[in-house]
Amino acid sequence: MSNYKKRNLKNNQICEMIIDYLKRNNNIVSKQGLVQSLISWASLSTIYRGINRLEQKGLIISCDVANDKYIAYVSDESNKSLNLTFFVCDVCKKKFWLKLSDSALEKISRKIKKFYHFDSKFILYEFHGVCRNCLFELKSNSMNLKKEEINNEDSSYANG
Ligand SMILES: [Zn+2]
Repeated sequence: MSNYKKRNLKNNQICEMIIDYLKRNNNIVSKQGLVQSLISWASLSTIYRGINRLEQKGLIISCDVANDKYIAYVSDESNKSLNLTFFVCDVCKKKFWLKLSDSALEKISRKIKKFYHFDSKFILYEFHGVCRNCLFELKSNSMNLKKEEINNEDSSYANG
């Protein structure tokens, strides 16, 4: 990678670098993260041009998840669809993603193909809710609240 020069980067080189970055990151990255990792090698316009080229070739797919842009690498060799699941915590705003190879999810895309004649290459599930950390914090906060209520009751007794 070190032999790439920022100014002399060709279109196919930037495409290679984008695919390389995606492959090293489980085939899904935030657009921001991708740009940040490549900006020392190529200009912003070169990076965006590379993304557009790869999108047009059908090698990558862009998607929006809770106001953030993500890019996924869809391997052209495999007939399998790429299932991506995002959990979006509405409390801390963190996003978690999983790649699922669940047979129940595969079944959904098979049914869609059968009934709607639509071949799904990329399936995005987005779940909004409360993450494990926030759930734990909410629980302990409500326990503290209860304690406070009890303390207040005690103090009101003491004052009375
Ligand atoms: Zn959270």
